[in-house]
Amino acid sequence: MTQPYRIQMHETGGPDVLQVEDFIPRKPGPGEVTVRQSAAGLNFIDTYHRTGLYPVRFPFTPGQEGAGAVQEVGEGVTHLKPGDKVAYLASGTYASHFTGPAERMIPLPDSITPQDAAAVLLKGLTAWALLFEVRPLQAGETILVWAPVGGVGSLLVPWAASLGARVIAVTSTEAKAEKARALGASDVIIGYEGVADKVRELTGGRGVDVSYDSVGRISAEESLNSLRTAGWFVTYGNASGPVEPIPPGRLAQGGSLVMTRPTLFSFIQDAESLTRGASLLFSALSSGILKADIGQRFPLSEAAKAHEAIESGTTTGATVLVP
Ligand code: NDP
Repeated sequence: MTQPYRIQMHETGGPDVLQVEDFIPRKPGPGEVTVRQSAAGLNFIDTYHRTGLYPVRFPFTPGQEGAGAVQEVGEGVTHLKPGDKVAYLASGTYASHFTGPAERMIPLPDSITPQDAAAVLLKGLTAWALLFEVRPLQAGETILVWAPVGGVGSLLVPWAASLGARVIAVTSTEAKAEKARALGASDVIIGYEGVADKVRELTGGRGVDVSYDSVGRISAEESLNSLRTAGWFVTYGNASGPVEPIPPGRLAQGGSLVMTRPTLFSFIQDAESLTRGASLLFSALSSGILKADIGQRFPLSEAAKAHEAIESGTTTGATVLVP
């Protein structure tokens, strides 16, 4: 489509509430820039906004990350000029154009294309926050990673392995297991049944230091049962639905367990921490520790199909929407 367009929602519901609408991109105000987007990254959170699990105000344009080339700069913007390639985390990126604050736009090194950046920025910063900020991972520790070949998982696994951790992965199919091994998992459990027993076998009865759990409702109990004494349950997602309430006594029963429910945005509130995370992420990409693995590309106008794909659990790596 050549006309500027965006995806708008006027109500919560299934993928069909994602409507394609023409729009006139907002002119950049002071301190802002307008970007001609090359891609918007698809994230599970977009489906939570659509279904109402995370409430939003209507009309609503979904999308939490994007990348492209600066088209126009507003008054007072000196560090960006038209043509510069940038990536950003911001609300409303399911659009051909995006206008937002220049200070939150991250200039891209030449080695990273805007499509790759849109594929990895949010997911890669999430992996960074989990490994470096929430609880700094130590070499020699053993961790459990759920959904290891998904958007976040496919960055978390190689990054953790590169830090010297032993990664045990849990996934649903043999094909995904093979991919998890290629990403750096030393052991892979296939299927969600009896995961904790298998983890005990693999760790000589000890359990893992940390479980990074993005699956949520159906995995929480197995995560808790997989931990060593004083191990960490890092529950960071709800792919199978939100986790049922867990009373503090359950953590005592497991042996002084620690539970945290991190969200990326707590760790990138100021420009300094955003830049610090992004530069570690970009150097991990440039050095080959991480790869921008775009498993699926959809035209932005087919965002509904992309939502169906990620919700069916059949995607691997990242999914991008291309205007
Ligand atoms: P993924 O690409 O990982 O897709 C979800 C994966 O979860 C599936 O591929 C599947 O992997 C697994 N899964 C298990 N049960 C289900 C189910 N019932 N329906 C669908 N998938 C299921 O998604 P993302 O990487 O984009 O996000 C993963 C999770 O992390 C989401 O819940 C997301 O909201 C969360 N997240 C949290 C952030 C935070 O700040 N806390 C930031 C970014 C993401 P398999 O077949 O291998 O089991």
